[in-house]
Amino acid sequence: MNINDLVRENIQKLSPYSTARDEFKGQASVFLDANENSFGSPLPADYNRYPDPLQLDLKEAISRIKGVPIENTFLGNGSDEAIDLLYRAFCNPGKDNVILVPPTYGMYEVSANINDVETRKISLLPGFQLDLNGMAEAIDARTKLIFVCSPNNPTGNSLNRHDIETLLTNFNGLVVVDEAYINFSKQHTFIRELTEYPNLVVLQTFSKAWGLAALRLGMAFASSQIIDVLNKIKPPYNINQATQDLALEALKNIDQVNAWIKTTVNERDRLASALADLPAVRQVYPSDANFILVEVTQPEQIYNQLVDDGIIVRDRSKVVLCEGCLRITVGTPKENARLLERMKAFA
Ligand SMILES: *Cc1c(COP(=O)(O)O)cnc(C)c1O
Repeated sequence: MNINDLVRENIQKLSPYSTARDEFKGQASVFLDANENSFGSPLPADYNRYPDPLQLDLKEAISRIKGVPIENTFLGNGSDEAIDLLYRAFCNPGKDNVILVPPTYGMYEVSANINDVETRKISLLPGFQLDLNGMAEAIDARTKLIFVCSPNNPTGNSLNRHDIETLLTNFNGLVVVDEAYINFSKQHTFIRELTEYPNLVVLQTFSKAWGLAALRLGMAFASSQIIDVLNKIKPPYNINQATQDLALEALKNIDQVNAWIKTTVNERDRLASALADLPAVRQVYPSDANFILVEVTQPEQIYNQLVDDGIIVRDRSKVVLCEGCLRITVGTPKENARLLERMKAFA
């Protein structure tokens, strides 16, 4: 499979923006090439210079943790940027299509709509697993991407690994596996499979387990052909210097992050069984993530009462296959206790 044949023709032909620093290699101490403020920045840290467009120091540090070479790593302004760039690189507006498998993360569809790309939606089967036959029927010569999310948002379950492998082997386009919640899962990441599948893209993020949602930093891991295309079309300085510096600092605190993951998983399992005992709860779906999908007797009333009490959960009750459900993020023990106390009031 030749990845470059999948790339939009205008992108294949594109001459990318060349930054001032791209054009210079070697040692220098006087930089008069980028119209920056040569005196400094009005902050304690120096932010007067443009950041490294390829974020090599940060990628090096990520590579030491993930074991993925730098040439197979892309960093985005959130995973959302990687999602958008995949559409822009591979999908001709008004012509190509992608396969989505609802209920799932909303940005795949929003990004498709922004880019004027048709979405073909094949709902998950009961049990929230992929409908491989339905997907196979929907795929045609203009299908460029398939987005799957594992563990899936908002259902919380992991998708069967073998099903994803079947897609990777048989689909003549890219399979994007969104692993935003992989740190909370018992399942293994797909990043070990990158050498096996040239059409695999794995998305991960600093927004969830890493506790850095405000920094906006997402990762895409893929074959170097795919990474090269994303780098070619991204805004030149898509990851700002403050984010690069702070993420490098954060990576030194991996022990703290791992401890939080353990606590979150324990707390999730405790919360799930406590919720299951409530009269207002019809069903608690098994979760491999840091949230729980819960079917309740009166979703609207419970949601509104919680809002009145200052507790915000996500109302998913109108979403296909999630009828009557709320999606509840695992909080601190104190927050979870407060939630349970309020929900007790409902029958
Ligand atoms: C939260 C989430 C993300 C994270 O997106 P960022 O832009 O990196 O914050 C990605 N995918 C899914 C499924 C999510 O739930």
